[in-house]
Parts: sequence; structure tokens; C-alpha cells
Amino acid sequence: MSEAPEHIKTLIIGSGPAGYTAAIYAARADLKPVVYTGLEPGGQLTTTTEVDNFPGYPEGVDGPTMMVQLQQQAERFGTDVRIGMATAVGFSKESGGLHRVTIDDNKEVLAETVIISTGATAKYLGLPSEQRLRGGGVSACAVCDGFFYKGQDVAIVGGGDTAAEEATYLANICNKVTMLVRKDQMRASKAMQHRVTSTPNIDLRYNTEIDEVLGDMVVEGLRMVNNQTGEKEEIAITGLFIAIGHKPNTDIFKGQLDMDDAGYLVTEGKSTKTNIPGVFASGDVQDKEYRQAVTAAGTGCMAALDAERYLATIETLV
Ligand code: NDP
Repeated sequence: MSEAPEHIKTLIIGSGPAGYTAAIYAARADLKPVVYTGLEPGGQLTTTTEVDNFPGYPEGVDGPTMMVQLQQQAERFGTDVRIGMATAVGFSKESGGLHRVTIDDNKEVLAETVIISTGATAKYLGLPSEQRLRGGGVSACAVCDGFFYKGQDVAIVGGGDTAAEEATYLANICNKVTMLVRKDQMRASKAMQHRVTSTPNIDLRYNTEIDEVLGDMVVEGLRMVNNQTGEKEEIAITGLFIAIGHKPNTDIFKGQLDMDDAGYLVTEGKSTKTNIPGVFASGDVQDKEYRQAVTAAGTGCMAALDAERYLATIETLV
């Protein structure tokens, strides 16, 4: 790292809908954004097939295509999109201070403002059969993919608020939802549990885990195991939804940015401001509740507007 650090006006870390929307707004406001894409350019949507719920695509769009289009739109206004991963940060606590960010462990940049859009990663069980069938009927987002299983039998794993909410969402669309909870109780709030237990087409199984997801190319069924009795049972399903939580991608910000107990970045009120002046957060990295492409894009826009206002204030102070 002998080179002098590069000076960047607006650094955007992450290239999902939040990062690219921030880039579109920042570029149009002449904030000279540079986007570092991270390890998964395009973010979580590149692992989805069809996106049917992003406004403006009446026929739907496949996730990777939508992300390429968002990148092109950001580049049209002059965004500099680079492949690279932020590996360390040293944020300035002073308003107007420069923020030091290390890229790929070997390059340093100094940014006037930083927009963090590093997203969150869905947790999976890690079973070989589950991993093999990701994209072939195994999904971590019922709101994204549930519609493809309309009228069919599906299963969902998890006992938290997300699993409860997604189980009831699926129950509205699908014929039957088998819900697998590994303990003898759910972690979800009482109100959410009540919604699950009062939905007739949710078959709730406590103390139950997946032994194997069945099917070669697509999900055809599930072998479940009762972890108290060891008893196994096979059911036929076409879709399996994993709802066992997400991990926000915030490890490099620990100790510098305020986070909640689960590691999500905390933002101030309705804004995207973090506890460091000039550092903003948008998308799933600061939202464990909605987690949609369209809400991520919305907060990306907000972050660019917040960054623009911040830069205008410090320019006035200088
Ligand atoms: P949680 O961490 O709250 O719950 C994860 C669930 O998955 C738990 O039931 C856990 O079981 C189970 N689980 C974890 N690992 C495995 C595994 N390997 N095999 C089987 N089951 C497993 O995650 P959520 O995504 O549900 O919620 C995250 C946060 O977001 C929470 O604070 C929640 O309240 C909030 N939220 C709020 C919503 C709302 O207010 N509308 C909607 C959605 C989320 P166990 O209990 O045994 O550990």
C-alpha cells in the first residue's frame, strides 16, 4: 500500500438496488460516485430468478438482468463502478473529516462521504441437498418467490417472526404450508404465533428438522425428522423456503458504527445517517424488517440525498 490514497468524493460500498440507486442520484447531483461492488456484484438479486414485484416491469424481469440495467443506469450518469471489496475502514469522527477505506486489503481511498449498502446474507441450513436445489425450488424469500408455487404444497423452516410472517403469506397463495420449527416452541412474537396457529392450511411441526430435500433438478419433496423421537416422514412439496434469519454484512464496521444486537446498522430517525458524520447506510444492511429490492432502492435514494446535503453543509463551513 505504498501508493498515495485516492481521494473520492462519494464512495458507495455495495452494488445491490440500494447501492446503485444511491449511485444514480449521487451521479446526477455531480457527487462523483465510485461504487465498489463487493464479492457478489449486483447483490442478493443476482441469486434470484424472476423478479415480479419491482414496479415498472409489467412482465417481470430476471434478477441478474435487472441488476445489469441498474448498473448501466448508474454508469450513464458517470458512476465509476469498480470490482472490489472494502476490507477495512477508519472513519473520521469530525464533520468534514475524510474517511479512510481499504479496498481488497491493498488499496486505500479517502472519501468525503460514504454510503454503505453492503446488504445482508440469508442464512441457509447447509445441507448438501438444500444447496444443490437453490434456484430449483429452494428459496430464502417467500415474498420474492412464493407466487411461483400458487396452489401448490410448500414447506418453510424457521420459528422467528420472518418464518411466521412468510408462512402466513404463503398460506394465502399455496394449497398447504408445512412449517418446521426445530424447538418445541416458536421464537416469533405471540401475535405472529397466533396468526400461524389460526391459519388452517399451515401444518405446524415442532421439534422437526430437515433430514434431506428430495429431488434431482427441482424440489419434489422433503424427508423430515422429529429430533425427539428420531421418527422420519416424507412429504411431497414443490417449494422449500428457508427463513432462519439473515446476517447483515457489517463485520468491518464493528466498533466504529452503532449496530443493534443482530449487527444491523442503526440509522437516525427517518434518515440514513449513522453515528458518524458523512457516513450513511441504505438497504438491507440497516433494515431487517422489509428487505425488499424496492425499499432498498428507496433508502439508496435517501442516502444520496442525505450525502448531498451533508457535502453542501461542509462546503459551506470551509
Ligand atoms: P430470528 O433470528 O428471530 O429467528 C430465526 C429462527 O430460525 C428461529 O426460530 C431459529 O430457531 C431458527 N433457526 C435458526 N437456525 C436454524 C437451523 N439451522 N435449523 C432450523 N431452524 C433454525 O430471525 P428472523 O429473520 O425471524 O427475524 C430477525 C429479526 O427481525 C427479529 O428481531 C424479528 O423480530 C425481526 N422481524 C420483525 C418483523 C416484523 O416486526 N414484522 C418481521 C420479520 C422479522 P431457534 O429459535 O431454535 O433458535
